[in-house]
Parts: sequence; C-alpha cells; structure tokens
Amino acid sequence: MNDFGGLRAVVTGGASGIGLATARLLAARGARVACLDLKPDGLPEPLLGFGSDVRDDTSVRAGVAAAADALGGLDVLVNNAGIGAQGTVETNPDDEWLRVLDVNVVGIVRVTRAALPHLRASHHAAIVNTCSIAATAGLPARALYSASKGAVQSLTLAMAADHVREGIRVNCVNPGTVDTPWVRRLLDTAADPEAELAALRARQPTGRLVSAEEVAAAVAYLASPAAGSTTGTVLAVDGGMQGLRLRQP
Ligand code: NAD
Repeated sequence: MNDFGGLRAVVTGGASGIGLATARLLAARGARVACLDLKPDGLPEPLLGFGSDVRDDTSVRAGVAAAADALGGLDVLVNNAGIGAQGTVETNPDDEWLRVLDVNVVGIVRVTRAALPHLRASHHAAIVNTCSIAATAGLPARALYSASKGAVQSLTLAMAADHVREGIRVNCVNPGTVDTPWVRRLLDTAADPEAELAALRARQPTGRLVSAEEVAAAVAYLASPAAGSTTGTVLAVDGGMQGLRLRQP
C-alpha cells in the first residue's frame, strides 16, 4: 500500500512504543516521516529524528521547523508524546498535576500551533492525537492521567471544529492498555509483575493487551486520504473496553 506516497508526517514521541510503530507504518505506506522526541537517537531507516521537548515552546518551534524543512513541508501531524501518572486527587501534589498536563495537553497545543502554518499549505492535512481510554473509562488511581486525556479528547473536538473549513482534519485514537516500553516499565516496578500483567489482560474483553501496531493502524487510517470525510471523531483501540463495558458482568 502506498496511500501516503508524497505525504510528509511528523510524529511526536516517535522514538518508542506507539509513536515508533506509527512512524514505521506511515513510512512503509510511502510517507516521509520525522520523529520529534526527547531522545530521537537510534531510529530505523528511513525515519528522520529531531530532538524536541514538547514542554518547551522554543524547542517545539525549532523541531517542527527543522522537520518541515527536511521533509519539504508537512501534511500529517501525530501528537503522540505523553507521560503517565498514578494516584488520586489526594496523592498527586499540584506540581505533579502541572507537570503532566504540561506534557500531555499543552504539549499538543504547542506542537499544533507550530505545525498549523505548514498544514495550511497542504492539500491533505490531518492531525491525529493519541488520547486514551482513560479519558472516559473512570479508571481507579489514575485521576491526573485521566483528566489529562479527557482534555486531549475535548481538545481534539475543538481543534476539529476550528480548522475544518481550512481543510485540516483532526481526530484522536483512544487506546486501551498497549504493550509498549512504558507499560513494560510499569510492570517492572509492580510487586508481582505476572499478576499485574494478568490483571491488565483481563481488564480488556479481548483478554490480551493491544499491540502498538494495532494503534498505529488506526492512526494511519485517520491520517490517510481514505478518511477524507472523517474529522472530530474518537476511535477506540481498546480490546472492547469502551464498547462492551455495559455487557460485562
Ligand atoms: P513510550 O514511553 O513507549 O513512548 C513515549 C515517547 O514519548 C518516548 O519516546 C518519549 O521519549 C517521548 N516523550 C516523552 N516526553 C516527551 C517530551 N516532553 N517531549 C518529546 N517527547 C517526549 O509510551 P507509549 O506507551 O508508546 O505512549 C505513547 C502515547 O500513547 C502517550 O501519549 C500515552 O499517553 C498514550 N497511551 C499509551 C497507552 C499504553 O498502554 N501504552 C494507552 C493509552 C494511551
């Protein structure tokens, strides 16, 4: 499939997990792809890597400009960089709230702001935000992370409305628990990693974790010309967590 032939894509957080799988898939389908990441080293060919921190507006502007320059423009933006947080409103102090919201929410704002002038010049402009099932699932001990992803979902719909007349589509994916280095790091710190992994699998009706490639496929669909009439939508890639939850015992 070469449906991204001639298109140019930037993926934030593209050096690991869902972002890396997405960057690889877009490249395999013909896109030229630049990954913006804190640690952009060691990316496989033909992916381009640029060091950029979504917490820092100057760094974001420089990263987006360098990527658009190297690619010769920009058609697709995947806002994927994000960090996790565990805890409740009582256990997460204010500075932790601000730290996570700065990456997960304001990071998307900064990157999108820097990318919009380039996207306006594209005949096929699409933005896909990596949100999470946590936005709407009411997960325990994930107050801050859930609120940050709830904001990403709302932001996605607002951005879609603001830019639809400019021909820029904006959608998001809501993954369940995905087998990425992030989740493996969490399991490593669990008291009983095997039991924790079994619990994560059991939480999803499919009985297994989502793969990064499955999320990448959903991102690629939303970013592709085939989704030309799709904007302001949320695509769950969650092993049935959202859609089937009312049917669970
Ligand atoms: P990951 O830790 O494997 O990869 C995240 C990447 O983002 C890393 O390469 C990291 O260096 C980069 N990054 C982090 N902070 C950054 C910053 N300030 N600036 C630039 N880059 C930065 O994580 P993942 O599991 O692939 O998660 C990617 C996205 O998917 C996140 O937004 C996360 O919230 C979301 N998500 C993950 C899961 C899951 O179960 N893994 C589920 C739902 C949603």
